[in-house]
Amino acid sequence: MEMRENTLEMIRRNMRQAKKSEFYKKHYAGIEPDDIKSENDFVKLPFTEKGDLRDAYPFGLSAVPRRDVVRIHSSSGTTGTPVIIPYTKKDVADWALMFKRCYETAGVTAEDCVHITPGYGLWTAGIGFQLGAELIGAMALPMGPGNTDRQIRMMVDMKSTVLTATSSYALLLAEEIERRGLRGKISLRKALIGSERWGDKMRKRIAGELGVELYDIYGLTEIYGPGIGISCERECGMHMWTDYLYYEIINSKTGKRLKPGESGELVITTLQKEGAPLMRYRTHDLTREMAGDCPCGSEYPRIDTLIGRSDDMVKVKGAIIYPSRVDETLAAVDGVSSEYQIMIDHLNGKDILTLYFETPEGDESARKHLEKTVETAFKAKIGLTPRAKAVGMRELPRSEKKSTRIFDNRY
Ligand code: ZN
Repeated sequence: MEMRENTLEMIRRNMRQAKKSEFYKKHYAGIEPDDIKSENDFVKLPFTEKGDLRDAYPFGLSAVPRRDVVRIHSSSGTTGTPVIIPYTKKDVADWALMFKRCYETAGVTAEDCVHITPGYGLWTAGIGFQLGAELIGAMALPMGPGNTDRQIRMMVDMKSTVLTATSSYALLLAEEIERRGLRGKISLRKALIGSERWGDKMRKRIAGELGVELYDIYGLTEIYGPGIGISCERECGMHMWTDYLYYEIINSKTGKRLKPGESGELVITTLQKEGAPLMRYRTHDLTREMAGDCPCGSEYPRIDTLIGRSDDMVKVKGAIIYPSRVDETLAAVDGVSSEYQIMIDHLNGKDILTLYFETPEGDESARKHLEKTVETAFKAKIGLTPRAKAVGMRELPRSEKKSTRIFDNRY
């Protein structure tokens, strides 16, 4: 992202604040904020990794006295030690303001009833959706995840107009509403979907089955939570709230900064955070900077819809597989639905990739034919022939959280 006149000053201020924490005192030892005189100085600063944040457990990231912390959030990850993020009053208020801006960008108003299915608790999701909704004066329904019967009942009776969910849970709800023939009884008009990589086919199904406009909302617990960026009605990338954060796109192998349009890893520096300011934090989310202005007229710059995570790319027999490429491949095959799962196993000295995909097709020979078509399309696009297996609709698991589609069982 382009550095404006005051960006360097904001970065230096953030670094001054960050260096009040035990972690950055060590991590940036010998580097002073006033040393950062140009963009060139900035890009030489060491990155901050999620592992660093874990090592700082419990309060190593905190840049304020304990009495100024009003809330704790935490991201778990799969490896045990959680990351602890302390928030001051200003951090909580800023997050709510950013979230309010997200709702406004999506055209949500005080007339709406916002149905919130992301989880509440140490995790940042649910409460962020709620504070932003209350700030614009909408009616918030703090459902949290699970209990699909109750979700649908409340959705009908409370006349929810805005659904907030992960793409996987939105799909599950859409399928259940369809199955129960309740489409005519729901009042949804928009859905805000927590950012993860999701394919066009899934998008079309959710939009079609629920009859809603979709918006991608971006965020991560380490940087406030969801709500630091959102797509607009033009559906051409997500606007990022660059008065609160500075972002870069880098080559995740070399760490070199990339040009607008080039795909790489998103790196974020906070600009106004007090409790746990971060410098050059590697998100491992893969995207690209969109060049030029958005036709919607917003002045906030955009990044593209996520194409995956640098850590969920897998290599099989020399072919590099990104979930987004699999989405694209399957989207081009008629009769194949949006849901798939990939299993990679190591058998008899060979890597074997099995691709399960859902299809409404019930006829056995038609399914065999589809499997062959998928194998050929996969080979052409990704450079490797999978074992394709057709399964019926709703046979693959749906999740309330972000969905995992690639299971690497080799190690
Ligand atoms: Zn726009």
